[in-house]
Amino acid sequence: MDDGMAIAGGRLAAADYSRNFDEVKPPLDRHQAIVEASRCLFCYDAPCLEACPTGIDVPSFIRKIGTGNLKGAALDILSENIMGGMCARVCPTEVLCEQACVRNEGESQPVKIGLLQRHATDWLLQQQIQPFTRAAPSGRKVAVVGGGPAGLSCAHRLALLGHAVTVFDARPKLAGLNEYGIAAYKTPHGFAQREVDFILGIGGIETRLGQALGRDIHLDRLKRDFDAVFLAIGLPDTKKLDLAGEELDGVEDAVTYIEMLRQAQDLSRLPIGRRVVVIGGGNTAIDIAVQARRLGAEDVTLVYRRGAETMSATHHEQEFAQTNGVRIRHWARPVRLIGQNGNVTAAEFEHTELRDGRLTGTGRNFTLPADQVFKAIGQAMTGDVLHAAGLGGLTLRDGKIAVDGEGRTSDSNVWAGGDCTAGIDLTVQAVQDGKLAAHAIDRHLRG
Ligand SMILES: Cc1cc2nc3c(=O)[nH]c(=O)nc-3n(C[C@H](O)[C@H](O)[C@H](O)COP(=O)(O)OP(=O)(O)OC[C@H]3O[C@@H](n4cnc5c(N)ncnc54)[C@H](O)[C@@H]3O)c2cc1C
Ligand code: SF4
Repeated sequence: MDDGMAIAGGRLAAADYSRNFDEVKPPLDRHQAIVEASRCLFCYDAPCLEACPTGIDVPSFIRKIGTGNLKGAALDILSENIMGGMCARVCPTEVLCEQACVRNEGESQPVKIGLLQRHATDWLLQQQIQPFTRAAPSGRKVAVVGGGPAGLSCAHRLALLGHAVTVFDARPKLAGLNEYGIAAYKTPHGFAQREVDFILGIGGIETRLGQALGRDIHLDRLKRDFDAVFLAIGLPDTKKLDLAGEELDGVEDAVTYIEMLRQAQDLSRLPIGRRVVVIGGGNTAIDIAVQARRLGAEDVTLVYRRGAETMSATHHEQEFAQTNGVRIRHWARPVRLIGQNGNVTAAEFEHTELRDGRLTGTGRNFTLPADQVFKAIGQAMTGDVLHAAGLGGLTLRDGKIAVDGEGRTSDSNVWAGGDCTAGIDLTVQAVQDGKLAAHAIDRHLRG
């Protein structure tokens, strides 16, 4: 149990860890799913379909759930979004399909599209049904670099279209941030790897793990050995604060910590502060703040430089953090991190405001005591990373790999998608990027 140190593991009893990191959103049972499906109005020109980045035919799959055709429902979902199971768990549906649902108007409660999607896809995975059949072999080979949502979606669609695919990934496991980043309580019980097994089950996809682009494999070589290359390496770097004290012990990168948490066999061994400060306003900031609380941190404060409405974390996520005991302070930016004997002890902030539309400091400062500070101000693709990966020759846009409407980079045999290209950084968008690039590559390979 807690040894009184500022940063320590074992702050909770064993049962609390399993309770705190179990699923926050339980699935619907059969009866609940049928009742929920009956709320759908099967709208013509359904706005929920338009709002889904992968274009899943929502009314069609809901109708099939209602008539007991779970296989048909799952096929509707998976043929547009092969990670329909993960997206049902992690999509911010409150700002996508469910926000668009017409039921919001009459009853102020949308149809629970995410939970219904989960009901159908979970059923199919449990039955161990392989619903897809590959096209005849095309004789063409494609290299996919990065086996996260974008890479696996592209690989699956290419395999379906008859191409031979090799997926390279630097890490020991596939699934990218589904396995190493998403909050533990959104996708527990090894679901990310079960979904990978299902995706690879189509056949025609070889995997090479522990292979990093720029270290073990090189773009020039891949371009020689394969007919096309798809890059889906995500955003490997965390942005720096560039503040005095950033090097102090206890100042940590949120994504690296979450990766450690997601891979931990024993959560009680994870060292967490008693007083934790999180800097940032997105998914990562919310996730590290909530998980710090659930690991037993007593006091967790998330500080964001602007107002609640400009946080990239949705209103629903902000509310979730607050109900988990996270204090959110808006309109303040960090000015320095303070330490003693090499360990962080506090973070100093300056209140901010908008002056003529520009964010400025007010000159009024405050200090928060902290024995652990998490940086969560965003992921980046630095020039160093690109050069190390041998991608320095590709054109960039806003610090990411520039692509056209089909995902093609400035190199005519190389495509890219997901977080390493411009766009919304969401699992569902990465899946869609991979799918669209696979079709563009297919058209290219078939001349
Ligand atoms: C903490 C956190 C929480 C999030 N929570 C949510 C959420 O709840 N809902 C949501 O929709 N989105 C969430 N996101 C965003 C979502 O996870 C990403 O948008 C999505 O994973 C992007 O997929 P990707 O395939 O582009 O990249 P990634 O998932 O990052 O996958 C990239 C893959 O490339 C590999 N790779 C990297 N460099 C190399 C290299 N040099 N050589 C070979 N392989 C390499 C990596 O090992 C990895 O497997 C979250 C992100 C973070 C950081
Ligand atoms: S908008 Fe709502 S009610 Fe209409 S089809 Fe979509 S889920 Fe059903």
